[in-house]
Amino acid sequence: MRYRYCPECGTKLVPGVAGDDGEVPYCTQCEKLWFDGFSDCVLVLVCNEEDEVALSSQWYLPKDLKSFTTGFMKPGETAEEAAAREVKEELGLDLRSVEYAGTYWFDYNSQLMHGFIGVAEKAPLVLSTEIQSASWVPAADVPKAMLPDFPGNAAMTVFRQYIESRSLPMPEIPQMTKEQQEMMLRSME
Ligand SMILES: [Zn+2]
Repeated sequence: MRYRYCPECGTKLVPGVAGDDGEVPYCTQCEKLWFDGFSDCVLVLVCNEEDEVALSSQWYLPKDLKSFTTGFMKPGETAEEAAAREVKEELGLDLRSVEYAGTYWFDYNSQLMHGFIGVAEKAPLVLSTEIQSASWVPAADVPKAMLPDFPGNAAMTVFRQYIESRSLPMPEIPQMTKEQQEMMLRSME
C-alpha cells in the first residue's frame, strides 16, 4: 500500500528523497517519509505426534475449504510469539515448538506471511468465536481439504516442508487451474 496522505496529520504527501530507496512519499508538516505499508501475518501449520494437522474453517473461506491458523502480528511481538498466540487463541493449544518455514509475499493484500510449523500434543481443540469448526486431519488428507495449490501459495509450500521434514509420503496436491486462479484474483479485488 502506497500512502497518498499522511497517516498522522492527513496532509497530502509530496515526493521526498530517501537515499538509496529513491522517491518516497513525504509529509511536509510532520517532516516524515512514509514508506509503502504492508502487514505482517503468521501462517502456522499445527501438527501433533500422530502426524495429524489441525485444519479450521474460517469466515473468509468457502464452507468446504479448510486452512491452517493465520493472523496478524501485533506491534511489540516477534513472529514466533504471534504464531504461538494465534494458535492458543484459535485452537486452544500450547505449542511445544515452533519451526520457522520461510516468508511469503501475498501481493493482493500487501501481506508478508511468516510461515511456521508448530508442534502440539494431540488434544481436543477449543475454538475461538472466529473459527466455525476445526479438527485434526491425517497429513495425507490435508491437501484435498484445502484450496488447490497455485504459484506463490504459502500454505502448500509450508505443507511440503512439513511432509519432507517428517519423512512422510508426499500426498497428491491438487493444482488450481488458470481459470480458478483468475477467479480467485477477481474475488480479492
Ligand atoms: Zn503529517
